[in-house]
Amino acid sequence: MKLIFEMGAPGRGCDLLPDCQAPDVSGKATRRAARPRLPEVSETELSRHYTELAKQVHGVNDGFYPLGSCTMKYNPKIDEQAAALPGFSQIHPLQDAADAQGCLEVIHKTENALCAITGMDACTLQPAAGAHGEFTGLLLIKAYHVSRGDEKRRKIIVPDSAHGTNPASGAMAGFDVINIVSDENGCVDLAALRAAVGEDTAGLMLTNPNTVGLFDPNIAEITRIVHEAGGLCYYDGANLNAIMGIARPGDMGFDVMHLNLHKTFSTPHGGGGPGSGPVACKHFLADFLPGMRVVESGDGYEAMRAKQSIGDMHGFYGNFLVVVRALCYIMSLGREGIPEAATGAVLNANYMMHELKPYYHMAYDRTCMHEFVMTLEHEKHERNVSALDIAKALLDHGIHPPTMYFPLIVHEALMIEPTETESRETIDEAVRIFIEVLKQSEKTPEQMHAYPQQTPVRRLDEVTAARKPVVRYD
Ligand SMILES: *Cc1c(COP(=O)(O)O)cnc(C)c1O
Repeated sequence: MKLIFEMGAPGRGCDLLPDCQAPDVSGKATRRAARPRLPEVSETELSRHYTELAKQVHGVNDGFYPLGSCTMKYNPKIDEQAAALPGFSQIHPLQDAADAQGCLEVIHKTENALCAITGMDACTLQPAAGAHGEFTGLLLIKAYHVSRGDEKRRKIIVPDSAHGTNPASGAMAGFDVINIVSDENGCVDLAALRAAVGEDTAGLMLTNPNTVGLFDPNIAEITRIVHEAGGLCYYDGANLNAIMGIARPGDMGFDVMHLNLHKTFSTPHGGGGPGSGPVACKHFLADFLPGMRVVESGDGYEAMRAKQSIGDMHGFYGNFLVVVRALCYIMSLGREGIPEAATGAVLNANYMMHELKPYYHMAYDRTCMHEFVMTLEHEKHERNVSALDIAKALLDHGIHPPTMYFPLIVHEALMIEPTETESRETIDEAVRIFIEVLKQSEKTPEQMHAYPQQTPVRRLDEVTAARKPVVRYD
């Protein structure tokens, strides 16, 4: 396929701009030496180009997309329509609060809804992603300890099953990151946790259900151990699909957490667009929250800064249109629909795990939450067929591969998250394909390295692509 720069002809175009009426005030010093090199194509060429590009990728609208830990679910179109309303999309963040009451109300309502869902008391919508939320939450933990003159607390405890962003955020926030091992069930090892906590513990970062898709039965004991040592508990709520409307991190003993609106709450994840990683916390951390706080005043809303705010984590109110989608999603599902989505996600994952269990080896043979992990370690040893080989073969059947080689504690891992938005027929068909691919790998193992064959590109050199990306033409 041609790049857009290789199409068209000089002078061709499809803009309808009138001639410029403004006086030319730019001096030579600020003017470009040469005209920018922009594609010159007709509207037909442009339209076909983007349609062709769209055909080269696989999205939720194309087929099954069970990318574990990422929640690639179908998002209702009505949420997109709400976010496109001119009153939301054309507003300027510096507009007078009196003229932006509707937007402030959206912010306020979303914060309240997220607090109700998580069991927290206050919330900021500023952080732009999950990792950004983790960083924000850790700065709140730091501000809390410093405000009490307790500055020796420099250590953040992170289980080895954690999402990679957890230790990275801990280091970014200036903490020493202490890793603790998981037990044979993939859960926190209580003895290891007890040995790790002390007077230098700032806090613990945990996700529950954890990254292998299991709910930690000792969660209350875990947060108690950390609190008794004087630390705070941070909940990585990037993926709330399994528990929303059913269990609340605030009730499990967590003090502060983030959510990914671009996983659970309706903004498509993975499309490269803006995300949102709101941070919710208990009362005693609210005074440290970043950005402008929207509060009720009279019969309207106004915005003000928290007393001991850590500052700004993002311009203005964060990625506001992502927030509009989230509120629309929450309100359209309502009190009944939110837990129903969660139970659907858990049911679909357990159904698919159950159907695959006679064929694939499950890393943890327990009831899972919204996702489950299989291991291809045995196939790798026996016939040199890896998780990567299986994943690549699935592509030829129109299935996006599951998450591979994560979590790191499972070797040759394939992590599957079907999500609540898939039908039984889609899951049955996916199961059939997973089994077919595995059977094929028994018959002709050496051929498995040659897939995919039907995709626009075949196997890529992923290491070089990541280390030495070529991201510009010429
Ligand atoms: C996706 C995810 C994150 C990171 O979120 P980003 O928005 O990609 O920064 C953190 N933790 C968990 C468990 C996740 O699944």
